[in-house]
Amino acid sequence: MKSKILVDYESYMCSVALLEDSVLREFHVEDKNTNRITGNIYKGRVVNVLPGLQSAFVDIGLRKNGFLAAEDMLEDRTILTRSGAVPTKLDVREGDYVLVQAVKEPTETKGPRLSANLSIPGRYVIYMPTIDFVGVSNKITDEGARDKLLALLNKYRPSQHCGLIARTAAKDARKSDIIDEIEYFANSYISLLDKYRASPDVSLLYSDGNLIFRTVRDILNSTVDEIVCNSPAISKQLTEYLEQNLAHPVKVTLMQDTDVLKKFGVLGEVEKLLRHKVELSNGGSIVIDYTEALTVIDVNSAKFVGNVDHEQTVFEINCEAAKEIARQLRLRNIGGMIVIDFIDMHDPMHNAQVVDILSAETRKDRTRTRVLPMTELGLVQMTRKKTGSEIQSLLLQPCSHCHAAARTQSPIFMARRIKAQLTDIFADPMCTAAVVTVNPCVFADLSKGEWFDSFAGDRYSGKRVYLVSDAGVAPNSFRIGAKSTAVLSLPDSAYLLT
Ligand SMILES: [Zn+2]
Repeated sequence: MKSKILVDYESYMCSVALLEDSVLREFHVEDKNTNRITGNIYKGRVVNVLPGLQSAFVDIGLRKNGFLAAEDMLEDRTILTRSGAVPTKLDVREGDYVLVQAVKEPTETKGPRLSANLSIPGRYVIYMPTIDFVGVSNKITDEGARDKLLALLNKYRPSQHCGLIARTAAKDARKSDIIDEIEYFANSYISLLDKYRASPDVSLLYSDGNLIFRTVRDILNSTVDEIVCNSPAISKQLTEYLEQNLAHPVKVTLMQDTDVLKKFGVLGEVEKLLRHKVELSNGGSIVIDYTEALTVIDVNSAKFVGNVDHEQTVFEINCEAAKEIARQLRLRNIGGMIVIDFIDMHDPMHNAQVVDILSAETRKDRTRTRVLPMTELGLVQMTRKKTGSEIQSLLLQPCSHCHAAARTQSPIFMARRIKAQLTDIFADPMCTAAVVTVNPCVFADLSKGEWFDSFAGDRYSGKRVYLVSDAGVAPNSFRIGAKSTAVLSLPDSAYLLT
């Protein structure tokens, strides 16, 4: 099997996709407007010390100053394990520079919470360069495995003042991979300190808030031989990361100015993930319904079945459905309890085989799943651990204008789809403008945001894109007209996007 990771970097939305033998298996997306900063490491400057509160406000280059408390700034690195005591005195003065990490997101009223005790998560370990502590994730319960990992971490930690915690993935990892990662962190920390010293003023030194690195780190496996990315800066960072951190070679291919999701056929697949119904290749379909407590999946046969052997046809559809259900759960990141209603079969052997296929397919999932045997009524219950957000919650939302009951595609995803088509249209040099016609609700959203700002500057300077409202267009669709004339006749309400 050969796998590829796609990294699609757009000005407001970035996504990471995993393709196994060209089949989409995982899709992760982040709205960059959310600007997560937790995990980022900064060179900060103390602007104000509050002696009574034993805390300080630190400028890290954001709108609001960060908040650093005495307990998050250990003077003596070994103090935690020696006495369990935490410092009560903050030893900084106004104007001092400090190396700090954001540990809590800012809110409307408060700046981000900072800590001087850094903690950097990798695939196998969490690296804590300023704390004397070695531990193993609570999720690893096997005593033997815990002892082995503790011994390994103790042996290979870069110094006595450096802390390490083994993550769940460390349990099944090769020893050499864990050691490589520790070494990588030790080297990165040295270059981080160099960067800190070299920076003349407040600056961002390291970013973990980035979906791309978090995801690539977590989904990289030995079958991945290529990462395709459309951002030169990210490609460079990925290459550096892989060179230092990975035993087997992974090629990073830069496809600048390319819509990577479109090129590899992922955009259309993602759109399908937002629908209830998924068509199967052999005539059947599955319908996915979300309720508060559980997800219900119904397997259906085609209305007209031309095959004489009904049992065999149904069996084949159920087998295909089992594979597709496992894939959909992983792609949509559906967690919690799931009940699947397969089409009734008479042969108990067939029932068992369908459950076997479902179990085997779900084992390919990084997220833990459990499949129970089929009940007499042909129902299969299963669970899948909840991790992160389901894809629907990111790409679908209730309309804020008409308050329709059905959720529709979010502006972020509509804009992404429109851009993909604009890329095609503007590939023709004769085309100087495009008119995008959308539903009034979509018009209201897209004419507000900055969805298309950098798009024009980056790729199509000089081309114009107009947005036009039309109630005849369904909320999840749009029409695009390419124009090559200088003078356009447009309705008064037309909005110039770029
Ligand atoms: Zn609406």
